Amino acid sequence: MSRRILVCPVCKSTDVELDTGGVSGKYFCKSCGYIGSYVLEMTEGEYEEMLKMEKIESEHKDEK
Ligand SMILES: [Zn+2]
Repeated sequence: MSRRILVCPVCKSTDVELDTGGVSGKYFCKSCGYIGSYVLEMTEGEYEEMLKMEKIESEHKDEK
């Protein structure tokens, strides 16, 4: 079993909290200021995998 973490869909930060104590049902990203009802939810393993993929993608962008 793995702990599930919330991830900001904009900046991929895990610094995401339920806004105003969960009253609005929206999430707030402390890293980029994103507020919305949609966030990514994944295990730590999946998160690490995503960061790895993003790193590969950005390295490919630098190659051109
Ligand atoms: Zn964010």
